[in-house]
Amino acid sequence: MLKEITILRSHGRQYVKNLRTQPVSDLFRGRPIISGNISDEDINGVAAICPVNAIDKKSGSIDMGRCAFCKECSFMQPERIRFTNDYRIAANSREALIIHPGDDNPVRLDEAKIRREVRKLFKGALKLREVSAGGDNSCEMELTATGNVNFDFGRFGIEFVASPRHADGIVITGPVTENMEEALNICYNAIPTPKIIILAGTDAISGGIFEESPALNRKFINENHIDLYVPGNPIHPLTFINGVMDLLGIK
Ligand code: SF4
Repeated sequence: MLKEITILRSHGRQYVKNLRTQPVSDLFRGRPIISGNISDEDINGVAAICPVNAIDKKSGSIDMGRCAFCKECSFMQPERIRFTNDYRIAANSREALIIHPGDDNPVRLDEAKIRREVRKLFKGALKLREVSAGGDNSCEMELTATGNVNFDFGRFGIEFVASPRHADGIVITGPVTENMEEALNICYNAIPTPKIIILAGTDAISGGIFEESPALNRKFINENHIDLYVPGNPIHPLTFINGVMDLLGIK
């Protein structure tokens, strides 16, 4: 017994005690801040090197739903664009993912857009089915990490399940390829109503670097109500966790 206690003590506390305030490395690329003084010339320069057209040439805003978080724009304009380590960047509207020059406000969910039945039914327990629709296994790995001993998202009764019949919602990763379109619809239709849709990662939100590819079929994304957008390339487990907690009204 003494031996086991000694081992436990040497391991220390593994779980993240407060998932809301857990600090992350300064190197993490989260919410960007663009200087309000950025010139048209500077905007054109960074927009030209952005690999995913995430920078609007007219306004200089950065769309986190497209951004690959490669930081090339920040390397080019370190005085004008920087990426904070703020990981609470999930939103429930597509527009909220667009960061404008001079904007340094935290990204939060619009309470008025959260469907009433979502909190009423799922606040105590939420089961999710994950569908990798042409994903590269990066966001999928981060989603798996949400349930590990560190993040332990299961402490709120939130976990991934193997069957859509047992799920309350769907989490989609990947840009949604033509080959996965039918499977995605079959999975979604198998989930009992009401059900939620969460898009995890840049590829799922906008198509990412594959946006123009003829191999994609984004009809499902375009035609269904999305409850939560979780940006990141890949997402951080804390971004997903905090987004879902906000959606469900968990403090
Ligand atoms: S960090 Fe985002 S906005 Fe900046 S160049 Fe890369 S993809 Fe474009």
